[in-house]
Amino acid sequence: MRNLFEIDAWKIVEQKFDPSKQKQAESIFSIGNGAFGQRANFEESYTGDSLQGSYVGGVYYPDKTRVGWWKNGYPEYFAKVLNSCNWIGINIEVDGELLDLNVQKPSMFYRELDMQTGVLTRRFKVKFKQGKELQIESVRFCSMDNDELAAIKFCVTPLNFSGNVKFTPYLDGKVHNHDSNYDEFFWEEDSRKVDIKKAYLCTRTKKTNFSVATAMRFSFWKNEELLAIHPNTYASDFYVENNFEHFLEQGNSYTLKKYVSIVSTIHHSEFSIIPRAINQVRDAYVAGFDALIQSHKTAWKNIWDKADIVIEGDVASQQGIRFNIFQLYQTYTGKHAQLNIGPKGFTGEKYGGATYWDTEAYCLPFYLKTADPIVARQLLVYRYNQLDRAIENAEKLGFKHGAALYPMVTMNGEECHNEWEITFEEIHRNGAIAFGIYNYVRHTGDADYLIDKGRKVLNGIARFWAQRFNWSTSRNQYVMLGVTGPNEYENNINNNWYTNYIAKWCLTYALQCEKDFASNSKALLSTDEVTHWKHIVDNVYFPKLEGTKVFLQQDGFMDKEQLTVADIPLNERPINQHWSWDRILRSIFIKQADVLQGLYLFEEHFDIETIQENFDFYEPKTVHESSLSPCVHVVLAASLNRMDKAYELYLRTSRLDLDDYNHEADEGLHITSMAGTWLSLVEGIAGVRISEHGLSVNPRIPFSWNAYTFQILFKNQPLSIRVDKNECTIENLGSSDVMLTLKNQVYAILPNEKIVA
Ligand code: BGC
Repeated sequence: MRNLFEIDAWKIVEQKFDPSKQKQAESIFSIGNGAFGQRANFEESYTGDSLQGSYVGGVYYPDKTRVGWWKNGYPEYFAKVLNSCNWIGINIEVDGELLDLNVQKPSMFYRELDMQTGVLTRRFKVKFKQGKELQIESVRFCSMDNDELAAIKFCVTPLNFSGNVKFTPYLDGKVHNHDSNYDEFFWEEDSRKVDIKKAYLCTRTKKTNFSVATAMRFSFWKNEELLAIHPNTYASDFYVENNFEHFLEQGNSYTLKKYVSIVSTIHHSEFSIIPRAINQVRDAYVAGFDALIQSHKTAWKNIWDKADIVIEGDVASQQGIRFNIFQLYQTYTGKHAQLNIGPKGFTGEKYGGATYWDTEAYCLPFYLKTADPIVARQLLVYRYNQLDRAIENAEKLGFKHGAALYPMVTMNGEECHNEWEITFEEIHRNGAIAFGIYNYVRHTGDADYLIDKGRKVLNGIARFWAQRFNWSTSRNQYVMLGVTGPNEYENNINNNWYTNYIAKWCLTYALQCEKDFASNSKALLSTDEVTHWKHIVDNVYFPKLEGTKVFLQQDGFMDKEQLTVADIPLNERPINQHWSWDRILRSIFIKQADVLQGLYLFEEHFDIETIQENFDFYEPKTVHESSLSPCVHVVLAASLNRMDKAYELYLRTSRLDLDDYNHEADEGLHITSMAGTWLSLVEGIAGVRISEHGLSVNPRIPFSWNAYTFQILFKNQPLSIRVDKNECTIENLGSSDVMLTLKNQVYAILPNEKIVA
């Protein structure tokens, strides 16, 4: 696989401007702060191929659905995170000619994303028509310290002339979503104002009525000297600008520092957002760029101090894992319970920026082990706050008595996905949400969440499963018909093993919680419910391959033509781009882990032979055409000590976007699968497991690594884990003893002590 960008432990670097790679680079060099994010579009005008993207977390629009054949229960819209006000804009003009890298080809170009500090830098030289040459450096960041603030330092140096250059910092709200279904414009203007010091633009989403106030203020410097500037002002619909011309002396640097604040009604009242945005840019102006970037860097340092993974001896792997961790924290920091983690984060429009089962199944374990427990708790509270909607959603489909079906895709709790085979049938997502609660409790030991909120969610989900199973008189068992498992290359199947398993587990866990907590708080389940659920738990049907330990993905799986991925000609892959849908559905090929997803989540329920037989049966049939697939296979391959396979798939998942394996990085990055990368390293290669029995570590090391070191949080105690070719060292950085199993030996590690094995 070719590397698109330079290999470096902390940086993503591009040494040359390649317009054909610009959209990919815009995704890869994206920056964000958990509240908003920005693709790496240029500050100055760019007329080449580009996907403009500034996204504000939680601000969405209900784009009217397009479907061929309407089915009852379909949502009427698909919520989309919106491309919102372009806040980065700074136009530069020389003799009336706009700076535009599509017109003046740069003679030198350097772009760098420093993941350690979250700073995006670009340097280039250009020559205008009349031979005048400028050197430009832009530096920008979305503050991790104040998630309503961003700043840009745009420095212009005339190389071979002294003369006038025009600067135009602006805010532009006339932006479109590339993926709008009916080419609709999603915004209305609320108000705008510009004076010689500052400007703001407040826009409001049609239908959903979210307002976003974006304010800017700038200062202008010659080298280190602040200049007094009296800019012109200009405003038109959805647009405000300052502009001024200044005489630049050859060889001197002139820097425009632009401070921007983005404040929305997601977090503040309608009346406060404009003054708040204006006050924040005033404060930012007073504090100055250097102080702001310093606080931003300190905030990143605090994240890296807990979340970094250091890999010695393999820089490509090192860059890969840091890129994944960096993007995850840019997307979600846990500050706001209204926000969640879209599969593309703030890096593109695809998947609408909405919440999927990806959050609980993949992202939650990452935050549980690398951040304060409040971060993961916010993700659970997000679902708790949407419980009523999940109940309504289930009612629309005919379920009763408080049964809850969480949406496949959502912004505010309502379902906004509409392909019947997914919306109505890919119901396993409900299980991941229940599993998330269980996972939170076993990582943190915080049972309060369960008592207060978690049990209500669990019981809603369990009620759904109890109604979704039906009693088969021919089998004398409960079956579940008409579902789609995680493998979306099978639809409308009966008895998907994974769905049956997680549904049965949800019922068991809800019953267990009722037993554990009914005496502390009041009982939440009726006696009839308890009896009915117990009967289901004892009598669920699971398809199996007789005479083996293989669980069949669904009824009838063995009727398929028994092929492996090696039988597919290379030029027909990925099959979703070459084969008809009916051919994919009839084939044996698996999009992503399905039975193996279940073995991964519930590994402790199965013996190693069962895992091995199922892995050997399913892995060769899996095409990994979902980015969520390789990571689960890494974890299981590592458990089976198949380190070559684990490493091969680890590289694929960790550098998926950096090396653009799927040829789609231009649309945005695979943010949720980045959590999968982290899982594949920590749970897979390092063998860290948190189960009912506590914490266990069973580390391995890929051949090309000399050592690797990372931290995890377990029951709120930070542990540092270092693995090299010979041994593993675990140090307790917390203040309480930690019991754990390392390489099958039980240890109690006292605070500030370490064990080596
Ligand atoms: C996968 C789903 C996933 C979605 C968003 C799909 O391709 O099959 O499992 O939830 O992408 O990441």
